[in-house]
Amino acid sequence: MSKILAPKFHVFAALVLILQFFTFARAQDVEITIKIERGIADIKGKFTGDPPAGIWFLDTYGELSGLLSERMSPIYFYDKQGFLFARKRLTPTDIVKTTNVGGFAYTADLKPRESPFAAAHASWASETEALLMLDDLLPQLKGTKAKITFEFPAGWTVASVENEVSPGVFVVENTEEGVFYLGKHLRVVNSERVKFILIGDNWLFADDEAAAMASSLLNDYGKLFGTLKPANALVKIGRFPVPQPVGNWEADTRGKSVTIVSSDMPFKNQSIQRLHEQLRHELFHLWVPGRLNLSGRYDWFYEGFALYQSLKTGIAGNQIRFEDLLNTLSGARAIDSRNERTMSLLDLSSERWTGGNTRVYARGMLAAFATDLAMLRASNGKRSVTDLIAAIVRKHSPPAAETDANTAILAEFRSRPELVAVVDKLITGSERFDFSDLLNAAGLEITKAGTSETIKPVAKPSGKQKDLLKKLGSENWRNIR
Ligand SMILES: [Zn+2]
Repeated sequence: MSKILAPKFHVFAALVLILQFFTFARAQDVEITIKIERGIADIKGKFTGDPPAGIWFLDTYGELSGLLSERMSPIYFYDKQGFLFARKRLTPTDIVKTTNVGGFAYTADLKPRESPFAAAHASWASETEALLMLDDLLPQLKGTKAKITFEFPAGWTVASVENEVSPGVFVVENTEEGVFYLGKHLRVVNSERVKFILIGDNWLFADDEAAAMASSLLNDYGKLFGTLKPANALVKIGRFPVPQPVGNWEADTRGKSVTIVSSDMPFKNQSIQRLHEQLRHELFHLWVPGRLNLSGRYDWFYEGFALYQSLKTGIAGNQIRFEDLLNTLSGARAIDSRNERTMSLLDLSSERWTGGNTRVYARGMLAAFATDLAMLRASNGKRSVTDLIAAIVRKHSPPAAETDANTAILAEFRSRPELVAVVDKLITGSERFDFSDLLNAAGLEITKAGTSETIKPVAKPSGKQKDLLKKLGSENWRNIR
């Protein structure tokens, strides 16, 4: 999801921020040519205004490392007259002062990696297509407007949410969010609110069907969390560059670009359900964290609540059954209780990429569920977790000033008395959380069979319990298509 800097980068990033402080106010421009040929990107840049004070490259992103050290050639630096004056192989901690720099050139080896994660979250190029994410492909250029010209093999096309000023030439305001899809067989479906790009034949769903599904979900989320501005998003769905087993998928939502890399499912109805699941989760990220002007690590919130909200949206749209929701939550409880509980969700969240990933998702989703139950109980079914998320989006979308995510989000939780215990025990604390009261209020209970525990509706719910069960979606049923 949003940019994750490995711990060793923190000090380094602070240094860069200080450097940028002096240069932010000045409009800067850089003109960059990216030529893609046989899996190699040949990159040349020329500053047309003052360069940023320092140049450095991302080496890690999420669970990936070596983005600089394993892929980039030495960097050639040119002076303002265009004469070569230095050639340097950069290390992940290097920041090159740019006092005399007029331009740079280097190549990046974008041969696809084996890891499914890499296929959606970092640049790669195969013989037939390329995913280019400027954040890992270019030097860090925050505050610099970039004009990017692409050169690619005959027969390829390029698509992006960025502003295409002439064929193959784009102006990118924020290179951190710039994502480009290139290839031989790009199919584009323009639908309301979304441009849908498909690569790969033999999907079991039709192109139009996929685009209509994305439009309809954007509409639904727009009603809950406010219309996106600017309205249009881009969703690209394609195959893994290194084939993965059936059912695997990986996705990245960055700015207004949603990249889904997926194997198809064996049957059409599964394929459609899988696509809906991918879109429900990723399109939610356009608002959370996409719309939020919040800083710091808060993966526990935007991932855990994305999972939970996406299940609720699935039930509301009759895509999944109430039973599926309860089984998923039971599974999350099992994952969470398998580990000794020594860390709070907030701490787990900051260790997401060093082994905590599954637990952040599992406990984050349980926190969203507890929040939902507590809000439904306190309001007699009138308010739910969706209202809390909507309040956070309303308060922290631009023009709201940037603020610390965890402070802002937890303040919003704590302003509702019914959520204080959820925060203290399940989010900032590391105690085991007892769900039984909250479950009982909503007509649910934990049943044990052997070592496994499942959340199920109680046998004879009272009137009040029935009302809350209904709010949770117990009366929605899947339409088998
Ligand atoms: Zn996510």
